[in-house]
Amino acid sequence: MIEMIHNDKKKLPAILGGTPVRKEQLPYAKQYIDDDDCRAVDAILKSEFLTTGPMAKEFETEFAEYVGAKYAVAFANGTAALHGACYAAGIKPGDEVITTPITFAASANCILYLGGNPVFADINKETFNIDAEEIAKKITGKTRAIIPVDYTGQVADMDAIKEIIKGKNIVIIEDSAHALGTKYKGNPVGGLADMTEFSFHPVKTITTGEGGMITTNNKDYYTSLINFRSHCITRDISQFEDTNNDEYWYYEQLGLGFNYRITDFQCALGISQMKKLNWFISRRKEIVARYNDAFKNLDGVILQKNEKFSDTVNHLYVLKLNLKLLRADRKEIFNAFHAEHIGVHVHYIPVYWLPHYQKLGYKKGICPNAEELYNCLLTVPLFPAMNDGDVDDVIEGFFKIINYYRK
Ligand SMILES: *Cc1c(COP(=O)(O)O)cnc(C)c1O
Repeated sequence: MIEMIHNDKKKLPAILGGTPVRKEQLPYAKQYIDDDDCRAVDAILKSEFLTTGPMAKEFETEFAEYVGAKYAVAFANGTAALHGACYAAGIKPGDEVITTPITFAASANCILYLGGNPVFADINKETFNIDAEEIAKKITGKTRAIIPVDYTGQVADMDAIKEIIKGKNIVIIEDSAHALGTKYKGNPVGGLADMTEFSFHPVKTITTGEGGMITTNNKDYYTSLINFRSHCITRDISQFEDTNNDEYWYYEQLGLGFNYRITDFQCALGISQMKKLNWFISRRKEIVARYNDAFKNLDGVILQKNEKFSDTVNHLYVLKLNLKLLRADRKEIFNAFHAEHIGVHVHYIPVYWLPHYQKLGYKKGICPNAEELYNCLLTVPLFPAMNDGDVDDVIEGFFKIINYYRK
């Protein structure tokens, strides 16, 4: 699986000439599936339950324990999970929810699904994460929630964000789609915010094909999430509005939920992937350490600053091109990498630049740091199945291309 990143109309030229660094294209990310994973899925396909059942429960229990949260609810995908979290937080038409523009559109779309208004707070120039001071500037009487994103896997400054909303009726929904395994001041992400979302899309740290999770320590959120995942239909008598009904078949729909259930065979894959998580984490960290070591000596690129409070497991490794030192723009440099068969990528276009958001009336220029970063961003390939030779190729490619374009 890999997202299609360019179509035939945009065939990329071999710009630097000579022999490409690699014979075959190295993607920017890729899942890691082994025979144990296949056996785990196969067993469930031959069992009684295909959709949300005992495997989902087991996956949720293990996952909650891993991140140090009381509850976990698995969803069909991370976007559905974010939608559920916004529902549980009570987001209603007209409510404002603050998030970062440097994220996947889902972090803001989940607000729109409930009629809320996304408000974009600018990023810190060095860490590329949402800036707590910028959040403070955007808070109004209508602010109901904040969705900080742990961009690339580096956790947002949760204590600073909590300080800002102290005494206010504002819910924190942490988008940790990038950050499974990351620790903030020694504590894993997943138990820090009111609710935390994870994604199991194939490029993420573990995969279930499609899948997502919300973790929380709050029982009311938990109940609400479980209901929302399945139409807000419940058979739990203690939740009934009409308590006189004791028919065996009786159920109630308490709100407008969706069918966001995950299958049990996906959850079996998730459980199997969790067994490899320690290795995924250490391999990602190894590769990141090698990149940091190499790229700190490369004039022309700027590394993402590491915050001391974040023990980061990177989902993405991004570099900022120092265009003042280079004779080309990001597009030309991006194309040169693809000609060398190194699948660099760009994460992300500022969300409010996307046509849907432009049509909603968001103006360009509202988050200058984010826009400046976007024009210089490159995502470097990073996934556990890369071998040391692949990592060498990426580093060689960067030195070849960046030095070529050096002024
Ligand atoms: C991957 C991702 C999500 C969720 O994506 P799904 O594909 O729906 O699982 C949400 N936010 C961010 C920042 C992501 O990268």
